Amino acid sequence: MFDIKEIRSQFPILNQQVNGKPLIYLDNAASSQKPISVLETWQKYYEEINANVHRGIHTLSQLATEEMENSRKKVQHFINAKHDYEVIFTRGTTEGINLIAYSLGNSNFIKKDDEIIISYLEHHSNIVPWQMLCERTGAKLKVIPIDENGILQLDFLDQNLSEKTKIVSVNQVSNALGVINPIEEIIAKVRKLSSALMVVDGAQSVPHFEIDVQKLDCDFFVFSGHKMYAPMGVGILYGKEEILEKMQPFHGGGEMIATCSFDKTTYAGLPFKFEAGTPNVGGNIALGAAVNFMKKVGVQNIRNHENTLLEYAQKKLLEIDGLKIYGEKAKRAGVVSFNLEGVGIASDVGMILDKLGIAVRTGHHCTQPIMDFFNVAGTVRASFAVFNTLEEIDALAEGVKKAQRMLM
Ligand code: PMP
Repeated sequence: MFDIKEIRSQFPILNQQVNGKPLIYLDNAASSQKPISVLETWQKYYEEINANVHRGIHTLSQLATEEMENSRKKVQHFINAKHDYEVIFTRGTTEGINLIAYSLGNSNFIKKDDEIIISYLEHHSNIVPWQMLCERTGAKLKVIPIDENGILQLDFLDQNLSEKTKIVSVNQVSNALGVINPIEEIIAKVRKLSSALMVVDGAQSVPHFEIDVQKLDCDFFVFSGHKMYAPMGVGILYGKEEILEKMQPFHGGGEMIATCSFDKTTYAGLPFKFEAGTPNVGGNIALGAAVNFMKKVGVQNIRNHENTLLEYAQKKLLEIDGLKIYGEKAKRAGVVSFNLEGVGIASDVGMILDKLGIAVRTGHHCTQPIMDFFNVAGTVRASFAVFNTLEEIDALAEGVKKAQRMLM
């Protein structure tokens, strides 16, 4: 049974007023709120266990190591990775993509005139690391175009995939539009027409979908904890064992070595080769609690509830004259991105909503190419999580109407 009251009672932050109004938090694509189970796991770690991992002989260090490695296993099962050592703790999606780009560039994997394909729908963190890699190596960046509904034009792949293509990196869900990309179809084309490595940015899909990296057959899958009810500063890079084995480390330092001398250092095995330095132990353990939370509610239940909210939000918002929603409406997850005709600045709408206690994001959402495509400086973005309600959508629609009256 999906009991929204019970779910909301697990999120203490919701129980407050902002600007004299009950908080309505609709900025989950930027970062979701955290349930008590995650907060308590994090606090319990610092109150009862806190010690550095992987080095200590003493009891607390061993406990901390055990808990963190348990959390790695929880994530492994959550995304159905074959091995726990294919699951690497990072600071988030951004670090995961930078790790891949840096490390592949260091492995002589990519040369001048090789090609990297991304899409028009990418977050800056799935654009800039590849541009930096291209600058370092002389490789070329190619971009899958979109149509006016934000749908990727996949015939571009038929025309552009070749043996020159070394990497294809695409998100599963667009953070700016919420559009769900046909990632299975993209991977099938990549496999058929090239030997490129396939990177999936799952930052906006993991909070909403069941993920099976083996079934997807991607080479890498990256995501952030903080968008799926875990603390900030933790994330995951999944990579296939045989590829991770061949890659050079990203950061050098403690924990990632097998032996170290001034003459030569040898590297630790997976996953530690990619986890230099003291990790965010409390955060990594709390990520496991977030996985437990999602599994307990049921990922499919979360998805169904958010879909109900999304459909209702689109219906209510489209009743407002002059409101334009960006992106395909039928295939989206968790996000509705819009502007009001005649209101040039999305942040004006956001500020009025904030006065009503409603938190939305406004601006370019770290996706300036999409904004350029639609010829706008930014949009208003409402994004949903498991704790949002239909009444909150009503309040959003009323708030947008009020903003329209005030700004026009
Ligand atoms: N990719 C997508 C699709 C995102 O939505 C985000 C966060 N907005 C990122 C990458 C970057 O995530 P982080 O800032 O957590 O590293």
